[in-house]
Amino acid sequence: MRRKRRVKIVATLGPASSDSATIERLFMAGADVFRINMSHTSHDRLRELVGIIRALDVKTGRPIGILADLQGPKLRLGTFAGGPQELKIGDEFTLDADPTPGDRTRVYLPHPEILSAVEPGHRLLVDDGKVLLRCTAKDGERAIHARVEVAGRVSDRKGVSLPDTTIPIGAMTEKDRADLDAALDIGVDWIALSFVQRPEDLAEARKVTRNRAGIMAKIEKPQAIDRLTEIVELSDAIMVARGDLGVELPIERVPGLQKQMTRACRRAGKPVVVATQMLESMIASPVPTRAEVSDVSIAVFEGADAIMLSAESAAGKYPVEAVAMMDAIAREVEKDPTYRGIIAAQRSEPEATGADAIAAAARQIAETLNLSAIVCFTMSGSTGLRIARERPFPPLVAISPDPDMARRLSLVWGLHSVISEDARDFDDMVSRATGLAFREGFSKPGQRIIISGGVPFGTPGSTNMLRIAFVGADHYADL
Ligand code: PGA
Ligand code: MN
Repeated sequence: MRRKRRVKIVATLGPASSDSATIERLFMAGADVFRINMSHTSHDRLRELVGIIRALDVKTGRPIGILADLQGPKLRLGTFAGGPQELKIGDEFTLDADPTPGDRTRVYLPHPEILSAVEPGHRLLVDDGKVLLRCTAKDGERAIHARVEVAGRVSDRKGVSLPDTTIPIGAMTEKDRADLDAALDIGVDWIALSFVQRPEDLAEARKVTRNRAGIMAKIEKPQAIDRLTEIVELSDAIMVARGDLGVELPIERVPGLQKQMTRACRRAGKPVVVATQMLESMIASPVPTRAEVSDVSIAVFEGADAIMLSAESAAGKYPVEAVAMMDAIAREVEKDPTYRGIIAAQRSEPEATGADAIAAAARQIAETLNLSAIVCFTMSGSTGLRIARERPFPPLVAISPDPDMARRLSLVWGLHSVISEDARDFDDMVSRATGLAFREGFSKPGQRIIISGGVPFGTPGSTNMLRIAFVGADHYADL
């Protein structure tokens, strides 16, 4: 089973998509990676979902990625005594350390470290930016006094965003730590960190994961944009988290930032996921808007590694249709006569390493000779990523002996993961690569492939060899 597109699809699971039959339909419709939102998922439920997906992985013979998305330090108001409160422009409003229910003049903010970090002049956005408060004065660590600049309703436990404040806590709360331990224990492939602000946030997570899962940094804070290069460097992947990004920054900046982040990740050879509201209207409608179709197409034209569905697949009425629609849009874009030129225009030069020189040459040769596939052996995943960074037009098959790595690579642009032992010797390398290219449906007997491998065999980081090989007619009973 092979996909007929390069960009990957991440589908979030939720109440609309939590039984094994629906998850299988999502996969068949095109979902390559499943995202599980830890804000709404217990550890028992996570274990069940992972079990369902791993069984599907066995049934279909395809490595399927699982991404556990940690909630992160999402700040929330306390509660109100008299129900929702209407705040008017110019009203004074206080957020304080007093847990008693609030009223029209004050509310509890159950985050003491925030009370001290906010400074006069900083903005506080309540409920996805529907209400805007600006800090006018502080009472030490006990209270923030603010004036209402955009009027609206505040109510129990609404979210608060602080675009001007560097929050003096890491990207992981106590809940996140517990969720992270559970997710690693259960064996997910990717961990997403929400509200990353600093490179240190990644270092902290990395100490815990010890490469048992890839780390994806969700970029949704202006502070992360300021340090994007370092954050990309320390992450295994990036998510352009457009939902919170469009609250924390003026919404009109999101499209440009999406382009900048996609380019930065392509340059670095790190997978990038474009997320949130891609087919939002399909939560309630079987067809998307023209604007949403266009939005998905933009991410595909930019060469993003993956496009993501959130509520569309987790809680909408048409989860399978939403995946099928993304698949259809992606396939059509990738067939468009302008697509190759647009993708190639953003290709970066290889870095001065053996691995990159091999990756660039593999693409060049495969394109020049119109080969049926590029087949690489990759243990650490790095060779697969470096060839994908080239955005080659012939199909890319990545053979890994490590099932965890094969599943992790399912997120990567154009990369078809296969689990198979590393080559024992030169002949074995050629017959394994040609046999798998045939078995996986990329090559017919008589066609040629290019193989990248490394001597000594079985050594990570040894990629140093390219070989053009014919796919034979005698296949390959022992694969
Ligand atoms: P969320 O992250 O769905 O977990 O909030 C994505 C985003 O903010 O866009
Ligand atoms: Mn978010």
